Amino acid sequence: MLRQIVILLLLALSASACAAPTPLPPTVTPTPSPAPLATMAPAGATVLPSDFGQARPTLDPNAASASPAPLPTAAPAVTPLAAPSMDAALRPQFSKDLDKLENETRYVMQWDVSDDLAEIQGRQQLRYVNRANQALDGIYLRLFANATPDEGGIEIHQIMVGERQADITLSQNDTVAHVAWGKTLEPGQTLEATIDYTVKIPKNAKGRYSDFTRTDWLTTLPTIYPLIPAYDDKGWHLEMPPEYGDVVYADSSVYDVTINAPAEYQIIASGELVQETRQGNRMMRRFIAAPMRDFDANLTNVLEKTSTQLDDLTVTSWYKPEDAAQGARALDWAVNALGVYEKRFGPYPFRSLDLIETPTTAGGIEYPGVVTVASNLYQDAGQTSFFEFATAHEVAHQWFYSIIGSDQVNHPWLDEALVQYATTVYFEDRYGLAVAQQIRRDYFERQYEEGKAQYGNLPAGLPVEAYDEDAYSKFVYGKGALFFQAVRDQIGDDAFFRALQNYYREFKYQNAQPRDLVRAFNQASGQDITPLYLAWIGQ
Ligand SMILES: [Zn+2]
Repeated sequence: MLRQIVILLLLALSASACAAPTPLPPTVTPTPSPAPLATMAPAGATVLPSDFGQARPTLDPNAASASPAPLPTAAPAVTPLAAPSMDAALRPQFSKDLDKLENETRYVMQWDVSDDLAEIQGRQQLRYVNRANQALDGIYLRLFANATPDEGGIEIHQIMVGERQADITLSQNDTVAHVAWGKTLEPGQTLEATIDYTVKIPKNAKGRYSDFTRTDWLTTLPTIYPLIPAYDDKGWHLEMPPEYGDVVYADSSVYDVTINAPAEYQIIASGELVQETRQGNRMMRRFIAAPMRDFDANLTNVLEKTSTQLDDLTVTSWYKPEDAAQGARALDWAVNALGVYEKRFGPYPFRSLDLIETPTTAGGIEYPGVVTVASNLYQDAGQTSFFEFATAHEVAHQWFYSIIGSDQVNHPWLDEALVQYATTVYFEDRYGLAVAQQIRRDYFERQYEEGKAQYGNLPAGLPVEAYDEDAYSKFVYGKGALFFQAVRDQIGDDAFFRALQNYYREFKYQNAQPRDLVRAFNQASGQDITPLYLAWIGQ
């Protein structure tokens, strides 16, 4: 995520090289929207009954006293679907990447979106393997749709574990559900569960930067389903940060998601569309997303799109019709940022990346395979340089958040500060070192100086909740980014970028800890950067 408070600071930059209109690459071909619908099926797919076609498990009479909420009356439709290849989301040269996962969590979801887009009936099949070395007394689910009280939410009606109805205990303002079924889950043991739920989608929501909302031009669905949080050496992660922090800390998983929605809406989601089936005025679309740690979806009958094809990777920019010129510029920035990060850090393994103009009041927000940028940046010509910065920032999160995961709640610097620095690497490689240095000076150093004057010299490595909203920006996004410049100055360009490439390779689809990044710099340089780490990050 990137907060918009930095806009004023970056305006100083707009007089420099970044303000010049950027020529578009010749490969950009605007596509009118909505695009004609095509029936897609993966090559070699055979039609098989889906897991959703199985009969609902019988309730365990012994658990009947749990008196669950009544089942939704409009249960998701049961329709046979072709079985897609699970590597449909990956570019061919990375099709073996799924083998890097071990006992990964699998989500098979079906969402039935109401005609007015106000509600979703969801059914979710979950396969979770206990990868810890101790028995688990149940599992936890995160319910982030409940993060803003009175603005939509998710209600779980029932969870079946095999034949048994599970006991559900909510906590943390209903953002956490503990699920127990009377037995422990032993190390290496597999849990198979079916979850029925209803999601209410809030209209014109204001909470959490309007990230979960239904407007007359776009409906956004960020992590609206029950998500299994990361379980690391500190155990389950159930913390809820203040609303200026990102919430997801989860393992790379396999998603098979079927969304049944009014046919007039296009769906922009994590992963790849592998099948479309029209039934009257409804359209069923199936997406495969893997390995991804989160699944994001957006519905629109207003946005238009333009795409660039980079070999087997499609980058698409979605924008309001009146913002077509800015949508094309954003595509150019995203394509170029992607090229810089692939060269500097490692390849982007997925078949597509979607950049979406959204009503968010943050500068932008990142999801696996999807980045969003605030509509007001498309519409305010005075903010062009920040618009470019925000776009490059959110694209960098595909490397540091989506591909390499981390604890965004307790160690927000590990992705945000690195993404801030990566953004200046984009400016450096595209416009030259002087431009990048100007951003580091005018933005990061100024933020840090203001922060020190206002709050004292706080470390950049604190949990989100240790800062107020303003200090979070100044220390994590400003001071934290300067740590990376200090490391680069000490160990040199070669070791600095080699360390980040090694970090990418080692933690691709995994979750990294701060010590892992420090170790990568130490090993690549043969030096010990711990004193720099303590001085800047200070944890
Ligand atoms: Zn960010």
